[in-house]
Amino acid sequence: MKCPKCKADNPDTQSFCGECGTQLEPSDDSQVSFTKTLETPREELTTGSTFADRYKIVEELGKGGMGRVYKVLDKETNEKIALKLIKPEIALEKRTVERFRNELTTARKIVQKNVCRMYDLNKEKDNYFITMEYVSGGDLKKFIRRSGQLSVEKAISIAKQICDGLSEAHSLGIVHRDLKPNNIMIDDKGNAKIMDFGIARSLEVKRITGAGVMIGTPEYMSPEQVEGKEVDQRSDIYSLGIILYEMVTGQVPFEGDTPFTIGMKHKGEMPKNPKELNSQISDNLNRMILRCLEKDKEKRYQSAGEVRSELANIEKGIPTTERKIPKRKPLTSKEITVKFNLRKLLIPALVLVVILTVVGYFFFRSGPKLVDIKIGRTQQITHAPGIEIDPAISADGKMMAYAAGPESQMHLYIRQIAGGRTINLTESFPGNHRWPQWSPDGTRIVFQSGGAIYVAPALGGIPKQLVEPSSRRKC
Ligand code: ADP
Ligand code: MG
Repeated sequence: MKCPKCKADNPDTQSFCGECGTQLEPSDDSQVSFTKTLETPREELTTGSTFADRYKIVEELGKGGMGRVYKVLDKETNEKIALKLIKPEIALEKRTVERFRNELTTARKIVQKNVCRMYDLNKEKDNYFITMEYVSGGDLKKFIRRSGQLSVEKAISIAKQICDGLSEAHSLGIVHRDLKPNNIMIDDKGNAKIMDFGIARSLEVKRITGAGVMIGTPEYMSPEQVEGKEVDQRSDIYSLGIILYEMVTGQVPFEGDTPFTIGMKHKGEMPKNPKELNSQISDNLNRMILRCLEKDKEKRYQSAGEVRSELANIEKGIPTTERKIPKRKPLTSKEITVKFNLRKLLIPALVLVVILTVVGYFFFRSGPKLVDIKIGRTQQITHAPGIEIDPAISADGKMMAYAAGPESQMHLYIRQIAGGRTINLTESFPGNHRWPQWSPDGTRIVFQSGGAIYVAPALGGIPKQLVEPSSRRKC
């Protein structure tokens, strides 16, 4: 910084000139950055004002995870549209915005009457905003809250429309990932529209970097999403199952104080039969909802189209298929033929079962035995026998982590103190894992393995090495 009096050069950190002692004024540069701070992106817009020289703010429609939503009049086209002003902290993350731009390009391709049209991602000074179709009516969450629970007919009609929207999106390879009643709008004629396609995926980068930090809405997340695993259209089917459950019973199947406890329940707890909460629910519908909520995505309906035709059958009072290992595609004529030939296959199948039983018996008699722990009605976990050691309790006192298994091949497990299923935290990470410790917020577990220290999301996911084994130990 130059002294205004003697013109001597001074470091920027100095307040007085080193040569003549004159007070130093901030340079033009620092003035610029000061002005810049004052221009941080805006949190909200004022009703009646015009934004970006184009959109007249009519009213605020709501506020969500990504920012506030407004009904605006587009002065260029004279149309009423919706404008979502992205929160400053998200707008400042360049990677998220970039990712969102890409997702929007794909999401824009979905043109179907049950999906809200997305238009553009724009920038006005430092404010990013999304424009989309304005959908009249209210969101499904409010709808359920107002009526306690919906009639079975209404719920099925809404679910069928959601299936139609999902089918179109899935056929383009787009998974919603944040399907929930707040993201479904219902107009006064009972038409449903799915909102926010493409948004959840853009925000996911955040989730990966902040290991174990869940974004989205835990009540509607599939077990694979909770774990941060790869998701596909069957994840949306799980979320649709939760929405259906909520529509007909007035409550979600899994509740909890924290996202973490809810996540644990998605992963390990069986939902209560919806029929127990509302006797109007037929056995068919009860079974159908539970099949959407299967923990294992292979056991769920495999496509939204399959769910749609099941709903149509329930509506007509036609008995639905039994709960069974699902087929990948809806029944084709070829598969039907296979069914008719089943009797012919019965004898070879029985012979095969006998052979497998005999082989299995000898294998397990000589090899390592697996212990089955039966928990609850239908769940069971298996882990190799050994010892259970290194117990660690979470800060809220609700969870326990421990190491178990044969010596030198131990895995880490977590479970709720109150009971429920035990989860293998290191399932896909072989080694000898010991001494789990909880992070104070209960979202991560740090542990020791092979002389190194790792951290893993407490709900499962890939452990990350924090500290390498020291070189002395390596030798
Ligand atoms: P969330 O994170 O809960 O999905 P959003 O920011 O997407 O929240 O939306 C907040 C609320 O604004 C919604 O619950 C809905 O009532 C309203 N809303 C969002 N998008 C639109 C739209 N395109 N048309 C009309 N209302 C909308
Ligand atoms: Mg939304």
